[in-house]
Order: sequence, then C-alpha cells, then structure tokens
Amino acid sequence: MKWRGRRSSTNIEDRRGGRPRGGARRAGGGMGLGALLLLGASIFFPDAVPLLQMFGIGGQGSSASSYRQNGPVVRSGVDDDTRQFIGVVLADTEEIWNQIYAQPGAIHEERTNDYPEPTLVIFSGRTSSPCGPATTGSGPFYCPADEKIYIDPAFYDIMANQLGAKGDFAQAYVVAHEVAHHVQNVTGRIPQVDAYRRRVSKTEANQATVRLELQADCYSGVWTNKVRSVLEEGDIKEALNAAFQIGDDTLQGRNGGHVNPASFTHGTSEQRVSWFFKGLKAGDIKVCDTFSQPYNAL
Ligand SMILES: [Zn+2]
Repeated sequence: MKWRGRRSSTNIEDRRGGRPRGGARRAGGGMGLGALLLLGASIFFPDAVPLLQMFGIGGQGSSASSYRQNGPVVRSGVDDDTRQFIGVVLADTEEIWNQIYAQPGAIHEERTNDYPEPTLVIFSGRTSSPCGPATTGSGPFYCPADEKIYIDPAFYDIMANQLGAKGDFAQAYVVAHEVAHHVQNVTGRIPQVDAYRRRVSKTEANQATVRLELQADCYSGVWTNKVRSVLEEGDIKEALNAAFQIGDDTLQGRNGGHVNPASFTHGTSEQRVSWFFKGLKAGDIKVCDTFSQPYNAL
C-alpha cells in the first residue's frame, strides 16, 4: 500500500510512551506460547469476553490478565512508522465512509454529511476501555460504548508470526474491519443485534455475531475497492489471506482443538474470504446484507 507521505488522521489517541497500566508486557519476539494460549482462549472460553460489547477481528483471547511484567517495557516512539501507517489507513477510511454517507440511498435516504468519525486508540501492552481491559492478546477491537477502536501494534507481529497473516495490507484490513464495526454501530445495526442476542439461545446469538462479522468483512472489501489507487501488487492477496487465517475453523484447527461450528463468532475462513471478496468486487455496501438470508446460505 502506498502510504508514506500521505495524510494521517487526527482521530488518533496514542496511549503509548509509558509503562502500561496493570503490569502488562510489551509483546515482541517473545510472544510465543503465551500469545498462542491467549489467542486460543476465546475458543475454549467463549464467554470470557462479552462479545456484544467488544467487536474484534477474530482470534482474540479472553480479557485474561495473564500478561505479566517481563523485562523492561519498550517505549515506542510517538511518531513511528506504525502510527503513521495506521493514521493514513484511518484517514482513508474517513474519506471513503464520508463519501458513502453522502450518497443518497446508501446509508440514509437523503444526502447527509454526518459520518461520525471514530477515534482509534493505539496502546502498548494493556489499556482500559469501557468494554473491559484491552490487551495485546485480546486483539484489536471496537468498543461501541465509547465509539473507539483499540489496537496494540504488537498484534501485527502476532498476525505475521503466529497467524500467517503478513503484509501491510493485512494490517490495513484490520483497521478497515474495526471501522466497519463502527459503521454498524452508528447505523443502528449493532444495537439491533445486541437486543436480539439478549433474547435468544447461545447458538443463535453466535450466529447473529457471525452475520455482523461477515458484514464487517464485506464492508472492508468495499473500502478496499474504493482505495484501489493506493494499492500495490500483492495487497489484495494479503487482505484475503488475513481474512482466511482468522476464520474460526482455521483458528480452531491451528490450536489443535476440534472445530465446533456452534461456537463460531466470526465465520469460517471460506466465508470471511468470500464476503470480503463480494464487497471488493462490487464496491457497493448493498451487496453486504448478511442478515436477510438463511444462516446456512451465508
Ligand atoms: Zn470483527
């Protein structure tokens, strides 16, 4: 992705630059087993994270506080490449979602200029959110309560080294996916699904979450279509591969457990790739209706 020298969003809240609260450690090359266990935790303890308040990318661990201080905290520069990169991607999402909002019939019947841009929190190790503690292992997520996206750039190392999702556009996809949850929140979809989940069984609640997640992947594909002038060779492959690697079945299989479709919250690898691709091909959020078809047809 061409990002150097481009406009960065001002909606970034950088909480790094000090010892993280709660004695978290910064995840560097030594994430290893700890990360894998945390990443697997959501599969075995799906209730550990209140799913409806916290919307992640998939592959999150629980909000477990099992990160212990382990050596000195590495201070990140405030204006490093990662921050710049995330800022440029966020700015690109602002541009595109402002455009989509302004199209009559896309979100609203009439033309409006009211896309409420979300804030993106960059943290290191651990920080707090109204949705509970954010940790490296919890993975990037969107919190509807404060309309903020939380990302620890160390998760990008986990993606590349543990999950097989390398590349700058894999990282851009993560931001786009979380922004898509923000769109779902401000358009009323998340509150609607939230209310539904409260009155149905666990399996039905999980299925509603899968619908939300696949729609977020589709929106990410639409966004990718609209930023194609800044794409470089291999970028789309990186996003499709990332979507594949964090499918529920692939994550569960990787962790050595058996694959249990009733516990899925994000969709299979095949579903995630296909919904991203659908949005990418059409470049129109109309194709992203994951709610009106039977679950088995998704
Ligand atoms: Zn998500």
